[in-house]
Amino acid sequence: MSLLIRGGEIITADSRFIGDLLCEGETISHIGEHLTPPNEQTTVIDARGKYVFPGFVDPHVHAYLPFCGTQTKDTYTTASRAALLGGTTCFIDFISPERYGNLDEALKRWHEKSRGQSACDYAFHMTVTHFDEAIEKQLRRIVREEGITSFKVYLAYKGSNGIEDADLFQTLRLARELNVLVTAHCENETLVDQLQKQLLAQGKTGPEWHYHSRPPCVEADGVHHLMTFAELTGAHVYVVHTTCAEALHELTAARERGVHAWGETCPQYLLLDQTYAERPHFEGAKYVLSPPLRAKHNQEILWRALSQGELHTVATDHAPTDFATQKAMGRNDFTRITNGVPGIQDRINLLYTYGVERGLLDLHRLVELAATQPARLFGLYPAKGTIQVGSDADLVVYDPNYPSVISAKTHAMNVDYNAYEGMPLKGRADTVTVRGKVVVQAGCFVGDFTHGHYLARQNTQIEIPR
Ligand SMILES: [Zn+2]
Repeated sequence: MSLLIRGGEIITADSRFIGDLLCEGETISHIGEHLTPPNEQTTVIDARGKYVFPGFVDPHVHAYLPFCGTQTKDTYTTASRAALLGGTTCFIDFISPERYGNLDEALKRWHEKSRGQSACDYAFHMTVTHFDEAIEKQLRRIVREEGITSFKVYLAYKGSNGIEDADLFQTLRLARELNVLVTAHCENETLVDQLQKQLLAQGKTGPEWHYHSRPPCVEADGVHHLMTFAELTGAHVYVVHTTCAEALHELTAARERGVHAWGETCPQYLLLDQTYAERPHFEGAKYVLSPPLRAKHNQEILWRALSQGELHTVATDHAPTDFATQKAMGRNDFTRITNGVPGIQDRINLLYTYGVERGLLDLHRLVELAATQPARLFGLYPAKGTIQVGSDADLVVYDPNYPSVISAKTHAMNVDYNAYEGMPLKGRADTVTVRGKVVVQAGCFVGDFTHGHYLARQNTQIEIPR
């Protein structure tokens, strides 16, 4: 099986040139000019006038997540199809064991939900909700034998999947020893709990009050807390979904004093704001997620942090639940609204249209934030995240002149609303390949759901700049 992509403008994190790419088998075999197809069966794709990006990597996705007696709407089938249509060829999901549950059993469940059902490649983070001897043994095995080289901890949600401080310390100590990156949801849960109770007691039950139960200082306090633990243990930590100036300040301050820390943000925090959750007739529930959408002035700060390297990745935190049935469970109590927004399909188009086209990011930074850095941080580079000889032939031929409008009526995600409904887009993934196989053609899905592989990962491949 060979594939020749001709005449596109090839964009990586640090180079840009017009050329041809020849892919043989599952990898890129030649990069050059005027390459000829090796045989008559070679698929030839004309990429003139288009960009050729490495397949994008989304390091924060909930394709399958049971919670609050319900679960996210997508399956690996629907999530992988939506990912590919949006130019994402690989994502990392979070295994979420029950509190005090066995990690091996949870891992087995995630394999059952995904194996043979994904059109794109995928990997897992392992959530750690508590720590004891049995968990330590399981974690050591999972890192060594399963290639799960990142953990997830929740400083929020104590009593469900949140982690206590002593267990957090032990988890980071082990992560340091195993050279595993620890991703963390940072909010001070005690404060969230107190604020929620106070608001509900005052009869403030609508979705617009969600923000007030988790203000920026509560997030910043969570980041500060994590950084203290990272500093003491020397562990490498990764703050998921950074939303505001206050949290960013804590992250930056920690990095400046030598803490091994990286930061992620998501399109929703770059493009939507607090007022969306204030929409009348409960529509605000569509925009309830944690941490919440922030005041608009934070957007400019986050975009600048991305372009200047203070934040390191853009992921989606894709967590689709239906508005009509699941979000509606919180109609009389905002604390019962299912958290999260869908986004796996829209990340790259949004970053291109509202980042690159507005001059807030250049094309290299787009690739770096959404492909190369996630691949390096999470041990997938250079098979994923870049275009070079020997890398997996995961490629996106991107048409920068294809106008469309985002709508739940046309999106491929299995959820009844889109947080970006009505927003115009300027480009789209025209052709997408996964390990040399064309899975999107002229913007239409043509893949199959047995092609996606589970990826055992290596350790983080980035040293923190001093
Ligand atoms: Zn998440």
